[in-house]
Amino acid sequence: MKRALFPGSFDPITNGHIEILHRGLTLFDEIIVGIGLNTAKQPMFSPEQRKKWIVEAFADEPRIQVHIYTGLTVRFAREVGARFILRGLRSAPDYEYERNIDLLNKYLDSQIETFYLLSSPETSFVSSTLVREVIRFHGHLEGLLPPHIIRDIYALYPGGKPIGNTP
Ligand code: ADP
Repeated sequence: MKRALFPGSFDPITNGHIEILHRGLTLFDEIIVGIGLNTAKQPMFSPEQRKKWIVEAFADEPRIQVHIYTGLTVRFAREVGARFILRGLRSAPDYEYERNIDLLNKYLDSQIETFYLLSSPETSFVSSTLVREVIRFHGHLEGLLPPHIIRDIYALYPGGKPIGNTP
């Protein structure tokens, strides 16, 4: 049984994350999505809301489970019985960032191996950070997030609609 942990903030989960998860399922038997609370970042959405959106996105996929965790990612991977960590790579800065985390994780627990998938051209520009900017300014979210999340977020917009024409 190959079980991987896909750790991140998922604030919110985007089509980029979802693409990596679908492709990850061709490599691993099970993937645990770990919503990590240990960064200094101030989130836009509560951990429970983030979890609900991910659970809904994979309601028909029993091989994906979603957990909220605090503390070291490698420790959480051990706790859930995952020998592998899955991460996505969009660009050279992602690589530089991931490389340091990988080296630190290996230093902390040499038994856990991290696998990387390159993002597709369609989603390589999508980040939760940019999506949060679009949300702050009430822009269109089509193509960036799954429809059920877009629906929930538009309900929070003034008038329930994004500003401007649909892209
Ligand atoms: P973190 O808070 O650790 O940066 P994120 O929630 O932003 O985590 O992302 C989790 C993982 O998903 C990271 O490996 C990140 O590089 C990857 N990821 C984020 N957006 C995309 C995307 N558009 N395509 C591929 N991978 C992505």
